[in-house]
Amino acid sequence: MRRPDACPGVLHPHQAADGAMVRLRVPGGRTTGTVLHRLRELANSYGNGILQLTSRAGLQLRGLPDPLPPAFVTAIDTTGLLPSSSHERVRNIVASPLTGIVGGMADVGELINALDAGLIEQPALADLPGRFLFVLDDGRGDVLGLAFDLGYQARSPQGGFVLVGSPTRGIAVTTAEVVPTLIRLALDFSVARTGNGAWHVADLVGWADPLDLTEIDPLRGLPAIRLGRIGDAASVAVPLARLTQAQAELVTALVGEDPVVITPWRGLVIPGAADRLAELRAAGFVVDTDSAWSGLSACVGAPFCGRAQIDTTAIADLLAHSAVFAADGCSTPVHVSGCDRRCGAPAGDHLDLVAPSPEEALASVGAGVLSRMSRR
Ligand code: SF4
Repeated sequence: MRRPDACPGVLHPHQAADGAMVRLRVPGGRTTGTVLHRLRELANSYGNGILQLTSRAGLQLRGLPDPLPPAFVTAIDTTGLLPSSSHERVRNIVASPLTGIVGGMADVGELINALDAGLIEQPALADLPGRFLFVLDDGRGDVLGLAFDLGYQARSPQGGFVLVGSPTRGIAVTTAEVVPTLIRLALDFSVARTGNGAWHVADLVGWADPLDLTEIDPLRGLPAIRLGRIGDAASVAVPLARLTQAQAELVTALVGEDPVVITPWRGLVIPGAADRLAELRAAGFVVDTDSAWSGLSACVGAPFCGRAQIDTTAIADLLAHSAVFAADGCSTPVHVSGCDRRCGAPAGDHLDLVAPSPEEALASVGAGVLSRMSRR
């Protein structure tokens, strides 16, 4: 029996201890400085002031009234982030953040727009699970480490492989065939999951067998983007994925209506801002990969979540300013959770701190550092 899809959206807010929480899909992470600034205003005026970047390059606002005021929903709609009420939760498309800006084997920017439009055009895809993820990789392999359902990896500007649940199994396609193939597979999956509880391609054993998939030599890149200057763009991380007022104001001043890209590593790529790293650092962005904040994450914790046993922000702040990170060169990510649900924990290797006291947090990180140093 299929459980109801609990993924939050604007029209399906999640009730948290601090009020309603809404999640906004941003296909390919592509938005503008003006939109980010407007969302900050809405987070301040309707919510608790927190605007979070998500691991799917989307955005969340929390601490909102329940029910949501119609004026809030209208204001979100006006930003352009709610193009379909029926399909709002299925527009989960993560793409190589630097595509069309610098590097890559192809520019998949048009594919992001075409796939988004193609999903919305299909009434049958309105019921695709909110957890179902599409990735569009421009050949650098950066987003193939995410747990995706359907994807595409360009191998040249002319084509590549549509991927089915894995970077190593797919169908050779031309660029023109990418979106029709992804939509056809999503429709097939949607039919195949009828009457069962499948959220993902991997849940439907045998579903992909008739597709006659080709074994692919995977082209995997680094699991995250480097920070600092990349071509003429600035690549920055947002500490604890919470975009502050000062940060939103600076991004708006730098790019205004022009594009800015949210990365699935809770950062931003700001085209044309490579020479503004000092201002970005001063606004609280992380611009160096060896900054302690680049390896630290935390769930929202207390006082925002009713399950939280600790103030996770305070623990993360303590760790960021401790000497242990400097000793380690931030080689292993650390995630601080307020309870054993571990919301927002990174997928790969990391030090997992569940509701630690300040002393326990420092001791755990210090022990991890010593252990790694002894293995070097
Ligand atoms: S990990 Fe626990 S405390 Fe943190 S946000 Fe999730 S449920 Fe709340």
